[in-house]
Amino acid sequence: MEIVAAVRLRREIHNEWLLGLAGDLCADGSFGSRTAHLRQPYLTDEGEPGQEHGYGYLSATQVRDHVVACNRAGLQAGGHVIGDAALQTMAEGFRLAAEVVGVQAMRAVRHRWEHVELPDAEVLATMAELGIWASVQPAFDAAWGGPSGMYAARLGEQRALAAVPLRRMLDAGVHLALGSDSPVTPLDPWGGVRAAVWHHNQSERLTVAEAFGAHTAGGFELAGRPGGVLREGGPASYVVWDRRSAGLPTTEDGLPDLSLDRATDLPVALRTVVDGHPTFVREGV
Ligand SMILES: [Zn+2]
Repeated sequence: MEIVAAVRLRREIHNEWLLGLAGDLCADGSFGSRTAHLRQPYLTDEGEPGQEHGYGYLSATQVRDHVVACNRAGLQAGGHVIGDAALQTMAEGFRLAAEVVGVQAMRAVRHRWEHVELPDAEVLATMAELGIWASVQPAFDAAWGGPSGMYAARLGEQRALAAVPLRRMLDAGVHLALGSDSPVTPLDPWGGVRAAVWHHNQSERLTVAEAFGAHTAGGFELAGRPGGVLREGGPASYVVWDRRSAGLPTTEDGLPDLSLDRATDLPVALRTVVDGHPTFVREGV
């Protein structure tokens, strides 16, 4: 991924499938390798405040120039951004871009940030105002969050519990799409929904319906594609899930109520259909 490449790419590739330049353009690294960019330092292996703050790989003006170029090419911009300091840099860069192209133009191209693990209220307000989507992996919290996981070892309990703030994002008016970042965590959409419903921090938990919506319609909308909700005349792309074998009660929306029991078996895919064509059929069913 390259910054400020949008206009050139548009001219040279003319690729109708080019949706954006918003993948792993890295504003920082990760908590596991102590490379995500933090305002306060990481803890040492002994659990003491250390010296390392991680790395910010982009400046606000680099971000601004990339976003302006993407906006002018009609492309989604974004990047990988995890730590609170990197999120502040991204927010500053996007605000600078909005000064150039305008807030409405920013909202129209539906920019996206990946991960968004430690945003403060000001960052979330910027995302909401400029229509920047958060593409988030609840399985990160399930795998590494909580008071005694890897995040707590790197960041301390307080920041670990503040990470991946799903509820605060929705409450701030930020659009949310859920995913796995596979192969970082497995392709397991119901596992993602369960992780969102059972966030380590109780105040960050989503309802099943909120998580399901962000993991289906949210992804389609963020990608600028029709679908995500079955409608007459719309794309016939869907998955048939067997939830009876899992024996789960349903929510009032007809979804398996994963909030009742954390250890419950998840629904099993029986058939996947993409644009009317079966792409997966479980044998023996
Ligand atoms: Zn990433």
